[in-house]
Amino acid sequence: MTVTRFAPSPTGYMHIGNLRTALYSYLIAKHDGGKFILRIEDTDRERLVEGATDIIKSTLKITGLDYDEGPDVGGDHGPYVQSERKPIYLEYAKKLVDMGYAYYCFCTKERLEKLHEEDATGGYDRHCRNLSPEEVRRNLDAGIPYVIRQKMPLDGVTSYTDSVFGEISMNNSELQDQILIKADGYPTYNFAHVIDDYLMGVTHVVRGSEYLTSTPKYVLLYDAFGWERPVYVHLPLLMGKNPDGSVSKLSKRHGAVSFQDLLNDGYLPEAIVNYIALLGWCPKNSETEFFTLKELTDAFTIDGVSKSPAVFDFEKLLWFNGEYIHRLTDEEFETLAGRFMKAELPATLNRKKMLSLIKTRISKFSEIDERTAFFAALPDYDTELFLNKKNKITELDTVRTVLTEALNVLRNTDSFDNDTLYAALLPLAEKLGLKTGAVMWCVRIAVSGMAATPGGATEIMEVIGKNETIDRISRSLSKLG
Ligand code: GLU
Repeated sequence: MTVTRFAPSPTGYMHIGNLRTALYSYLIAKHDGGKFILRIEDTDRERLVEGATDIIKSTLKITGLDYDEGPDVGGDHGPYVQSERKPIYLEYAKKLVDMGYAYYCFCTKERLEKLHEEDATGGYDRHCRNLSPEEVRRNLDAGIPYVIRQKMPLDGVTSYTDSVFGEISMNNSELQDQILIKADGYPTYNFAHVIDDYLMGVTHVVRGSEYLTSTPKYVLLYDAFGWERPVYVHLPLLMGKNPDGSVSKLSKRHGAVSFQDLLNDGYLPEAIVNYIALLGWCPKNSETEFFTLKELTDAFTIDGVSKSPAVFDFEKLLWFNGEYIHRLTDEEFETLAGRFMKAELPATLNRKKMLSLIKTRISKFSEIDERTAFFAALPDYDTELFLNKKNKITELDTVRTVLTEALNVLRNTDSFDNDTLYAALLPLAEKLGLKTGAVMWCVRIAVSGMAATPGGATEIMEVIGKNETIDRISRSLSKLG
């Protein structure tokens, strides 16, 4: 059975790149009817951020990436938080020492700092690699602090085949005797994840390509234990566009790159998931770019993952989001819009109608206040706005006439629905020898104060209601003098 995991470190917010890793990991497991595990990698105690684990869990919940095993869900391979598994790692590290693949290192911090000062790139000089068993025993008995290091082969080559990047080889002479167990007794990521992936039965390790070149060290651990290596799926880098047209690793300076920020900005989880699925993966024989999570699960195969860096395009995400918003039912839209609307709206305003006008005209919910502001209150505007070549309105006198006539008609109109209003204003055009468009143009500017609006004159009047319409047209007339 295919088993994958998402193994984030709770060090802050949920970066969109991490979410993509979680998504691909989920999809690879679920495409095969397999299992998806959440494991919290919190052994770097200094980098822990309070609340980060909750953000991880809630992000997976909101996006529908349900895990079969993990903290709070449980499973046969728990605990799923590395700090709660501390004794396990020491036991396995000791096994490696016994087998000759690891060793105790008693070097002091001062010695290591000095080494670093002398040669910053040289790394550890393997000072403790060949201590005699007696010496090691003595030091341990004396309670001298230690770390456990991996004993790398000194020559030869270590290779593995990555499912995306192909064969990766490393000269063993380039590998550092990396620390497996730290002085505080916690394992390093390098060690802990290997032990856990093995013990949790992970068949496919899915993660960012920053781990591509450290993986030879990890496969050496599998080999040392005599364990079958997992399938490696390293994902392409995620890049952001710089103002000068170049690209660099996606980071905060490119915009909102955390899932939470995107949600707060009014992006829909489904749209985010859909968009990031395409950042490094290309569906085969597909006419559409739109996928639900279920459809992604069916379509996703590892051979569709590309090794070329993927560029996160905020415009494209915005477009996707707009498409998703337009496809919401009016009820869904209203509920979501309600969460974003901060502006106080007059009680007389037809909110339902207003939202139906807005729905197809926003791309993210944070635009909603700005887009609806003119419904709430007539903005200040310049009367020049009325002049319009296309509608042949070249004199403000024409506008005055239209609005005065319109005001009379509207005062005598009781039912303020779109069709009635339209039918009421239509005869004005003929009476004044103008095009219908010209009449509607004047009225629309008078009630909205804007050149471009969601909806036409009669729709806007339906939203704001009779009293407000009369008031706005009267005020616009006074403005015209
Ligand atoms: N804790 C590591 C990270 O957040 C996980 C890498 C992996 O998936 O192996 O980058």
